[in-house]
Amino acid sequence: MILLLFGPPGVGKGTQAELLTRHFDCAKFSTGEILREETAIQSELGKKVETYMSSGVLVPDMLIFEIVDGFLTEHQEDNILFDGFPRNLNQAVSLNTSLSRRNLHLNLALEMYLEETEIINRLINRRYCPECGRLYNLVSNPPRDHGICEKCGKILAKRNDDRETVIRKRLQVYHDETAALAKYYQSLNAYQRVHATGSEDDVFNSIVKIINAHNTEKR
Ligand code: AMP
Repeated sequence: MILLLFGPPGVGKGTQAELLTRHFDCAKFSTGEILREETAIQSELGKKVETYMSSGVLVPDMLIFEIVDGFLTEHQEDNILFDGFPRNLNQAVSLNTSLSRRNLHLNLALEMYLEETEIINRLINRRYCPECGRLYNLVSNPPRDHGICEKCGKILAKRNDDRETVIRKRLQVYHDETAALAKYYQSLNAYQRVHATGSEDDVFNSIVKIINAHNTEKR
């Protein structure tokens, strides 16, 4: 099964991608995660993308396509979850071509949506563990010890792009460039959306229901 998750920043894509990857036993492809790793180790790619990321705009498609090609060459299986890719129509069309070339096809593009005030609240209070990647929210899901990861004891960090001005820029980029994916995937009969409110488990259960219903309907 090939799935993709898209939605504005802060809607919970990363958390749900983790849960879904485990549930459906698939390979996860998250461009945001890969790019953050590259900037952390200051690779050539990392240095090139740093400024785009910290200002909240999209990294140029050509750089993204290199990462995608590398991933698809390494992962010949047909069980993949794309998280945060594609981010615009050009990337979506290119993904479709790459999949067809490999005799694969997308089952479902799932859009997660949430009210903007809630998104901003979530992102301002979001923290992550630089060691294990675990996510926290200082209000709704704080660590037991203030500022310390419960799993590995490291000091929690705030993402460079989780500052209010950058959050607003990322939301605008989402509306201007990514939201158009909904129409595109509707036209391919591979689109559903889910309201990402409630607990992680609530959202996860809703998503699994949608995926199973969509697959049954298509059979
Ligand atoms: P994310 O973790 O998905 O919110 O991505 C963080 C940042 O990485 C974005 O604001 C972009 O600057 C960059 N990025 C991630 N995925 C893509 C993509 N598919 N295309 C372009 N830029 C991306």
